[in-house]
Amino acid sequence: MKRREVVILDLDGTLIDERGTVDQAFLAVGQVVQAHVGLDAYRFARTARVTAQRLWWKATWTDPLSDIFGISAWDGLSEDFTEAVPALDRLHAWLPAFRQASWRLALERVGITDPGLAETISVSYTQHRHRDARPLPGAVELVEALACDRRLVVLTNGPGDGQRRKLQSSGLMDHMRDLVISTEVGFAKPDPRAVSLAVDRVGGKREEAIMIGDTYERDVLGALACNVPAIWVADRSPEVRLEHPLVTTVVSTAAVLAALHELEAPEVVPRLNAWTALLGKRGSAPGRRS
Ligand SMILES: [Mg+2]
Repeated sequence: MKRREVVILDLDGTLIDERGTVDQAFLAVGQVVQAHVGLDAYRFARTARVTAQRLWWKATWTDPLSDIFGISAWDGLSEDFTEAVPALDRLHAWLPAFRQASWRLALERVGITDPGLAETISVSYTQHRHRDARPLPGAVELVEALACDRRLVVLTNGPGDGQRRKLQSSGLMDHMRDLVISTEVGFAKPDPRAVSLAVDRVGGKREEAIMIGDTYERDVLGALACNVPAIWVADRSPEVRLEHPLVTTVVSTAAVLAALHELEAPEVVPRLNAWTALLGKRGSAPGRRS
């Protein structure tokens, strides 16, 4: 494969430990409740997750929005979706009521009626979600190495304010030429417009791009829809996929750089042929030992 000058990077689960941050935020909320009323922190954390998710899906109009933009109840509890396209106006207006209802209902489900405590844990959740984002092992090294001589662009589904904050607080933003966020552009991976726009933003061509991401349905299929090769970080995926000539599977973000270099290395067979030709010439040259 010829060298890839444009590298399109997914954010959550590829560069940033999003799952760990969400787990920590719910546990922190549970600990606040435990300190107030003695309820087990993990139990309340589980109740709060389920309650928020059910409320999010109960509003049936959030279903297509979640799919189109790649957003979740966890985002709705903490992010403001700033700079979002008009298609998200209804969601934007609904967020305060969603948050209030989520936390109050979660408390009611464990027998607590306390609007003040609901407000306190809402603030606590948001604060923990907004703490410094944790890069996944190998993510900083990968980005630093690639940014030396390639154009990097983040292509991510999610709320603009939240995704930008993660990039800033993780220290990765300075290495990016640009970022494309679903809620700001109006479409999300695997829509082929997403990868095309990411390539355009850094002045590249599809033939010189590669996508790196952890979600097969969004990152890999989004790249393949544009005939762009992909490196799939499949460490959390239990699924087995059919081999595809444009897809390389690695077990973790830390393994991406070596996989990319291997993909770009000159073909083994042409290299052997070159040696064979060279040896043949030397062998037939006058004065050489046979
Ligand atoms: Mg991801």
